[in-house]
Amino acid sequence: MTRIKAIRIDRNGGPETMSLKEVDLGAPKPGEVTVRAKAIGVNFIDTYHRSGLYPVGLPSGLGMEAAGVVEAVGEGVTQFAKGDRVAYASGPVGAYAEAHNVAAASAAKIPDGVSDEEAASMMLKGLTAQFLLRQTFKVEKGQTILWHAAAGGVGLIACQWAKHLGATVIGTTSSDEKAAIARANGCDHVIDYTKEDVAERVKEITGGKKVPVVYDGVGKATFIGSLDSLAPLGLLVSFGNASGPVTDVNLGILAQKGSLYVTRPTMFHYAAKSSTAFQEMADDLFAVVKSGAVKIGVNQRYSLAEAARAHLDLEGRKTTGASVLIP
Ligand code: NDP
Repeated sequence: MTRIKAIRIDRNGGPETMSLKEVDLGAPKPGEVTVRAKAIGVNFIDTYHRSGLYPVGLPSGLGMEAAGVVEAVGEGVTQFAKGDRVAYASGPVGAYAEAHNVAAASAAKIPDGVSDEEAASMMLKGLTAQFLLRQTFKVEKGQTILWHAAAGGVGLIACQWAKHLGATVIGTTSSDEKAAIARANGCDHVIDYTKEDVAERVKEITGGKKVPVVYDGVGKATFIGSLDSLAPLGLLVSFGNASGPVTDVNLGILAQKGSLYVTRPTMFHYAAKSSTAFQEMADDLFAVVKSGAVKIGVNQRYSLAEAARAHLDLEGRKTTGASVLIP
């Protein structure tokens, strides 16, 4: 049993429910490894676990993504040894901690040349970009796509990657500063969705054709505009709820707006498609990062004790790219 510091919540609510506590960390279970964190990724999903939008058993830790060093190896784990540099994207929640036990199947060795902070920012966010662009809808050269919250954590990775695949990328952001960052990271066109009509602008940019796919992690606030930006038979990939979840939809709206498709995917189902899926997705991600086609922008750093401030900034739309906690 090791004593570690970890962010814990006893109840659901705002960032004030988070506090740094000393807790016991047991030995890794069969199939798990203990990872001593060097950098911890902050993700919007962590705010859903904190608020209760995605229920977790209480009391609970928070966090699903980090990079560090393997400190102990559970029974049956053959792919990692003590001292390996690894990054993971995994449940159970609890990455906001000095060390955490995670499923070895949700971890990958960090390639040389990738820093701890970058690795801690690219497993959940980067593997999400991977499955969305390369599996849910296979983006191809010559296509035009729409990506909401283009200057965010997943957004910055995905827009660079989509551009690298040869797509014309239309991104949305909420400010001029974020628009400039989106442009520097793969977006050919940026729409300020707090001021402009997204579907009208998409029609204008595409000469009336609209787009075959919209990637929407914003949810409630953008849902109708996303459907209206799609060409007939287009696909809305609704992958998050930054503005709140999409609820109470009459499916008839999909017929009215062009026999549209909608999917609501999560990374964890794609990573569990087969015993090798997680590693294959990670290899694909590492390849675009190592080639320089995709850069991981770590734009906010906080100490572990400042995790609540990181949540305030993320939910307050003050961040761009990735945020990390340093234990
Ligand atoms: P981001 O860094 O993208 O932060 C969210 C962004 O959403 C903000 O920066 C903001 O950008 C925009 N936004 C729009 N409306 C709001 C609002 N009302 N409140 C707060 N933000 C708003 O977060 P992540 O990169 O961590 O995650 C992006 C999305 O991807 C999230 O919805 C997340 O849940 C989802 N996700 C889904 C996964 C899956 O497997 N399905 C896995 C990982 C992430 P702006 O100011 O430009 O509007």
